[in-house]
Amino acid sequence: MHEQAGSGTLYIVATPIGNLKDISQRALDILAEVDVIACEDTRHTQKLLSAYSIKNKTLSMHDHNERQRQDYIGELLQQGQNIALVSDAGTPLISDPGFHLVRHCRSLGLTVSPIPGACAAIAALSAAGLPTDRFSFEGFLPSKSGARQAALTELANETRTMVFYDAPRRAIDTVADIVETLGGDRYIVIARELTKTFETIHSDTAANFLLWLKEDPNQLKGEMVLIIEGHKVDPNAILPHILTTLKLLVDELPPKKACAIAAKIYGVKKNTLYETALSLKS
Ligand code: SAM
Repeated sequence: MHEQAGSGTLYIVATPIGNLKDISQRALDILAEVDVIACEDTRHTQKLLSAYSIKNKTLSMHDHNERQRQDYIGELLQQGQNIALVSDAGTPLISDPGFHLVRHCRSLGLTVSPIPGACAAIAALSAAGLPTDRFSFEGFLPSKSGARQAALTELANETRTMVFYDAPRRAIDTVADIVETLGGDRYIVIARELTKTFETIHSDTAANFLLWLKEDPNQLKGEMVLIIEGHKVDPNAILPHILTTLKLLVDELPPKKACAIAAKIYGVKKNTLYETALSLKS
């Protein structure tokens, strides 16, 4: 769809995640110059605007009225008004309202332009020391243990670094569920209170992390990003279907022969199967 001539622009403006200085000059200019600022919570955004002496019109747009607001905001844009969308903290749409509005505006051919800035997930990842070449953002973990364990189990074989939002008051339960589902050896990082006075970034195996959290109740306060190292694939691990074939073969043949045949079928090195074949035989 072609963009509409004479229409305004919807700016998606990132705001600070704690430290009010973490906002670009361009973002401040846009907030001062647009016709109206659509806010997740107008009172919350007012604190940021006041800190920079910006006086501008605000409009509430949150999870519960986004569908109604999208039509209204779409009309304002079509009339030529420029609008900024902000959430309470960080980048709008990232576990925050705005998706329906942006989709609606794009379907109308209106211009939607990002003004980049803070995002807790990216800030945490940048300082975590875990691989960042590929990662998966998983949003909020379920708050109930059963559902959380199910979500974690589903990700047990995910090899990319995984990034979650979670509440520190649940950290002990969440890390206990990680130990239960992914094992105590899994390496994790918790980035808490980023850009604020009590910023803490701690990393350890899940089992050690649990002990650390239990010793320091201060770690259960504020806001946090949880990062879990991806599943490490053991190059010598024998895949289940190869193991099944190997079992059948060692029942009928000497281990060496069984390994040679299984290796030929699956294109793996026979030496990697030998130890297992011996233990299956015995
Ligand atoms: N849109 C935001 C962003 O770009 O990061 C995220 C909004 S989401 C509703 C709020 C969650 O982000 C919190 O529960 C926490 O997991 C994470 N978060 C926000 N600010 C944070 C901070 N200063 N330190 C650590 N985590 C933070």
